[in-house]
Amino acid sequence: MNKIWIGSAWRLALVALAALLAWPVAGAVQALALALLLVLLMLLHHVRHLVRLSKWLADPLPEALPDGSGLWEDVFAAFYHLLRRQRRSESRLTATLQDFQRAGMAMPDGLVIVDGRNRIEWCNPRAELHFGLDAARDVGQQVTYLVRQPLIVEALDAQGYPDPLILRSARGGDLILSVLIMPYEANRKLIISRDVTDRERVETMRRDFVANVSHELRTPLTVIGGFLETIADMETPDPALIRRSVPMMSDQAKRMQTLVEDLLTLSRLESSGHPVRDDPVNVPDIARALYHDALALSAGRHKVTLLLESEAWVSGAEDELRSAFGNLVSNAVRYTPPGGEISLSWKDAGAGAVFAVRDTGIGIAPDHLPRLTERFYRVDRGRSRETGGTGLGLAIVKHVVNRHAAKLEVSSETGRGSCFSVVFPESQVVARPAHADARSA
Ligand code: ADP
Repeated sequence: MNKIWIGSAWRLALVALAALLAWPVAGAVQALALALLLVLLMLLHHVRHLVRLSKWLADPLPEALPDGSGLWEDVFAAFYHLLRRQRRSESRLTATLQDFQRAGMAMPDGLVIVDGRNRIEWCNPRAELHFGLDAARDVGQQVTYLVRQPLIVEALDAQGYPDPLILRSARGGDLILSVLIMPYEANRKLIISRDVTDRERVETMRRDFVANVSHELRTPLTVIGGFLETIADMETPDPALIRRSVPMMSDQAKRMQTLVEDLLTLSRLESSGHPVRDDPVNVPDIARALYHDALALSAGRHKVTLLLESEAWVSGAEDELRSAFGNLVSNAVRYTPPGGEISLSWKDAGAGAVFAVRDTGIGIAPDHLPRLTERFYRVDRGRSRETGGTGLGLAIVKHVVNRHAAKLEVSSETGRGSCFSVVFPESQVVARPAHADARSA
């Protein structure tokens, strides 16, 4: 049976016993008056506790729970345990919610939760960055007023979009976002944004690259194709035409060959599976060989000099360095009008060393300098083509230089000439090997 029932029954029984004991001594009326008084005291006790309970219920803090006495002790204790249980489950729920929020905060993607009327309920820091929101200020605001992107507004109205939208962030800059809108629950939506700037940039570079290569191949192919068609259409071959066209076709074929070779070199350099070697490379020997190449390329049109002030070697891949330095030398010859000067040098520079090619050629205007090493970037397309350029030379140089932890420095002045220097840090410079000394002795 319930403890309160038993306790109350006991107390009433005691009241009855007291009245029975008082009866023979004090008479029936006094005994009944005593019983009534005791019952009234019991009632007062209950009312007092009821008042305390109702006061406490107005602000039910466990620490403010009054101490009960008698039967009320158990009632208040039960309240206390109930509250403790409730507190514990509340704090468990809060912790879970905070965990979810922390996970949302740490997400690399932006996340905005909007209600059925597109009002922001919650957003993480990445979304603040992507859409220029401020969680503290903007919760409860219409997301469409803050994110002024017509495509997002349209997608929200359409209750979500199956495919991600690709858009430029309205906050300016180069940020490109992929935004997915997912409806969930009754009319609520998740707006998930991802920064795809790098992916889009690579995609644009890939498209540009394919367009450039096709463009470079089109001219030689058109020339060769045109001649071949004309010859094929002739009933009797015209020896004069063949004599004229064969050298032209051969020039165009060579141009394509050079282009393909440069492309293969670039792709070899770019592929991560082809790490740079760390052989000791005899740069003075390369410089001497390139000096002779420059003389041959110039065919007496320029004054070519070689200044070897350092005997340092560098650690790296000889073929790559030879090809990079060769590109600089060939550019100097190609972009320096007859009568100009070209000087090759290899010098110590602090604890490192620098290979430089200086010319007194046409020079380059300052606004072109930052883009020179981009693939297919040319200041004067016609001049580059006329001299057999592919537009890939300096891109190759840049890759080789990077792979050798070196730096490419360019200084130039229009009409006065240019200087391309490859600066090797101390870490790349190695001592001339002993066997090389023995050979040269
Ligand atoms: P290209 O095959 O066209 O020479 P590069 O990548 O080697 O391609 O060079 C890119 C562009 O930089 C050239 O088209 C040219 O306009 C400019 N350039 C490179 N070297 C020189 C130089 N020594 N003097 C003037 N312009 C140069």
